[in-house]
Amino acid sequence: MKNDVSDNARAAAEMISEERLWGRLMDLAAIGARPDGGVCRHALSREDIEARALMIRWAEQSGYEASVDDAANLWVRRPGLQADAEPVIAGSHMDSQPAGGKFDGAYGVLAAFEAMQAMDDAGIKTDRPIDMVAWTNEEGGRFDRGCTGSSVWSGAMPLEGYLDDIGIDGVRLADALQSTLEATPDLPRRPRQFAAHAYIEPHIEQGPVLEAGNIPVAAVTSIQGVRWMNVDIFGTAGHAGTTPLKGRHDAFQAAHRAVAALNALMDDPDDIVRFTIGRIIVEPNSPNTIPEKVMFSIDFRHPDKSVLERKCSQIDDLLKEATAPCSFKVTPTTQMDPTAFPQDIVDRLAASAGALGHECAHLASGAFHDALYAARRCPSAMIFIPCRGGLSHHPDEWAEPAHCAVGAQVLAATLVDLSTN
Ligand SMILES: [Zn+2]
Repeated sequence: MKNDVSDNARAAAEMISEERLWGRLMDLAAIGARPDGGVCRHALSREDIEARALMIRWAEQSGYEASVDDAANLWVRRPGLQADAEPVIAGSHMDSQPAGGKFDGAYGVLAAFEAMQAMDDAGIKTDRPIDMVAWTNEEGGRFDRGCTGSSVWSGAMPLEGYLDDIGIDGVRLADALQSTLEATPDLPRRPRQFAAHAYIEPHIEQGPVLEAGNIPVAAVTSIQGVRWMNVDIFGTAGHAGTTPLKGRHDAFQAAHRAVAALNALMDDPDDIVRFTIGRIIVEPNSPNTIPEKVMFSIDFRHPDKSVLERKCSQIDDLLKEATAPCSFKVTPTTQMDPTAFPQDIVDRLAASAGALGHECAHLASGAFHDALYAARRCPSAMIFIPCRGGLSHHPDEWAEPAHCAVGAQVLAATLVDLSTN
């Protein structure tokens, strides 16, 4: 890997306009804006349709062709000299959490668009086409299985498997998808899947490392793996005042012992394990009735698949001991293995940053992203920029305009070199 970038890559990076990029970020954030400064733009909603229309308008103004696929992933193409060559793709998502911020997802899409415009401004022609993408329903805020669009494009999930999902508003995904596609009847259709040369996703870090280190950009090396499961504990209901403690089958007390045992299992002196119990439901949830049933969720993440597997394999025995005399059931809901991005793309991102004079960290991503799925289809990687306080999925989410520009510069330079033979 040469430790520099081409003159064209440098020229494109120099044409990145911090002001133009920031203006677009604020324009997009106005769609679904919340009174508290945040954004609520659910996937395939009225606001999402409006955001897509704005993106398509910007594409037309710049002379790019927008298109869409069956999963409503929105594509914007900057043509290459070789029209049929496999494209280099960059982007992220435009949907948000219900109380989300202005940058999660939106930044990656708009950084990709800014990079394409900067290439125009620098008069650069690339061999390969460059595609900007806005993936459908990354967040899972409305339809709770996220990464819908990227998982379909990658071939990991059939679109048909999502169509009957019901949103928090009671709408079927198939119907929301149809109204979104019908809002742009004239857009050309892309195939559900096609070969690509590479995928780069810029994103805010959603963690505190870059800000704390005063580092403007990171090349992301990997995305850690995830295991989600629900634990049901079954006890016996009874009168709180009359049933002796001895001999009770109290599902909450069993859950309490189970959580203590799980904490011991997940204890990690290196602080790499991520372990969260974010939902707990007690039934019948009455102050004077012994709990009959408790459900709690487990969100367990680690960059090393063998650690994920080893600890998960111990959960059953541990629960058996901790929950007795109650019984229990474990239901896995989501499983994603860690993804390491190819070294040569990570090196190229770091080389672009270095050549442009930006200090560049190497980070593993704690959150999952569309890049996790894209990586199944083509060599992929991510660029992180700092966000204030590491805060994300929150109305106060904030990235500095200068950092947004640095990430777009690294992206533009990398895209030029990846799309030039
Ligand atoms: Zn995101």
